[in-house]
Amino acid sequence: MQKCENCKSQFSWHKIYKSLWWGYKPINCNECGMAHKITTSGRFVFVSLTILPAMIFGNFLSPFNNFFATFGIALFILLLGSLLLPFFVTFKKSL
Ligand SMILES: [Zn+2]
Repeated sequence: MQKCENCKSQFSWHKIYKSLWWGYKPINCNECGMAHKITTSGRFVFVSLTILPAMIFGNFLSPFNNFFATFGIALFILLLGSLLLPFFVTFKKSL
């Protein structure tokens, strides 16, 4: 998981997760205060773990004819994928 590029202290899962759902809000290191922004590949990871699998399920893989059932499962996939995000999304320090 992402560490501070300045002082190498570990960012918490919760801190990264929150940043992602607040529109990629920059993360400030708890130890040194250095701000970190999401990288371009980090945004790509975000989309490929959340919106993309949910859309693929909704459009191609859903066994349901019921919109709400499909939507519910798609939402579940999105949430499940998002739990993994902090392990894969990368940040870089910004001044
Ligand atoms: Zn730091």
